[in-house]
Amino acid sequence: MSSPRLERARAIMAEAGVHALLVGPGADLRYLVGHEAPPLERLTLLVLPTQGRPSLVLPRLEAPMAEHAAAHVDLLAWDETDDPVALVVDRLRAAGATAGTLAVQDRLWTMFTLALQSALPDARWVPGSTVLGELRLRKEPDEIAALHAAGAAIDRVHAQVPDLLRPGRTEREVATELDRLIREEHDVTNFVIVGSGPNGASPHHEAGDRRLEPGDAVVIDIGGTREGYCSDMTRDYVVGHVPEGYAQLHAVLEEAQQAAVDAVAPGVPAEAIDAAARDVIEQAGYGERFIHRTGHGIGIEEHEEPWIVAGNTRPLEPGMAFSVEPGIYVPGRYGSRIEDIVVVTDSGVERCNHRPREVVVCG
Ligand code: ZN
Ligand code: ZN
Ligand code: ZN
Repeated sequence: MSSPRLERARAIMAEAGVHALLVGPGADLRYLVGHEAPPLERLTLLVLPTQGRPSLVLPRLEAPMAEHAAAHVDLLAWDETDDPVALVVDRLRAAGATAGTLAVQDRLWTMFTLALQSALPDARWVPGSTVLGELRLRKEPDEIAALHAAGAAIDRVHAQVPDLLRPGRTEREVATELDRLIREEHDVTNFVIVGSGPNGASPHHEAGDRRLEPGDAVVIDIGGTREGYCSDMTRDYVVGHVPEGYAQLHAVLEEAQQAAVDAVAPGVPAEAIDAAARDVIEQAGYGERFIHRTGHGIGIEEHEEPWIVAGNTRPLEPGMAFSVEPGIYVPGRYGSRIEDIVVVTDSGVERCNHRPREVVVCG
């Protein structure tokens, strides 16, 4: 008996003209068959042909970890001296797919992809995201509930940030505390960004030795995974007093973020959400300071489809979940970003994060 997710994957494959899907360790494998495989030098690979039994090729020593997957796939355990690529080729041959179109997971290690390609010279290769991006894009109701729960969890962490920001503390000290607070609310911390003063102008700055000073703006962007689903949320804080020019800039950003969230509805192209935020920021004269896309999908991974960026004309559909996170960055001085996760509903949009979006003065 195959699982609903495997069947949905097959339907997408059939439509895309893909004859088999090959998936190694990671979020895609977890999503499809619930197997958490360590990403190591021994090959683990799900072989999902459009017809016939799917199989999971895996090292013998890891077979006990995959027993629960046996309801949906044949487990093909290989011994240390076996050639696992030959096992994959056998299964593809049985499915008549060796000269077909094979979708290989985007993040399969190159050493495996190259070995597969040389063993299957007649195949045509396409990125696995052709199938998997499409599949994971529309969240099921329990996935949406999990995203809301993760959103509420990170809201509770942000509620504690004002107690952490004191002049004299380093970004790293703040980040260490945040990591602990995130883990109290999640299973793991995925990332902690504490961008104080000029460091806030670098959107992916993590945390360094800079000490907080009165008059610093501080960008706090944090996320974790809770019961398999990710949180990701940014708020802006200042230490002591608001630096010059920051209040006006932040008012523009609040307006831009709200405009983008208001634009979300089924049928609206993804790029229109980016444009809604960008228009507000451009009209206020900060266009060149908004140096990244407006958002990314989120689910079992913190960055996945859909991409909220100019050029992505894909219409939004109920069940899609993504960040809305415009930012304005002034090199040498400060940065600011407001980020919430939103879910597209049948009639519009719901936010997963509910903390106030204004600048919070701390310390
Ligand atoms: Zn980012
Ligand atoms: Zn973020
Ligand atoms: Zn994000």
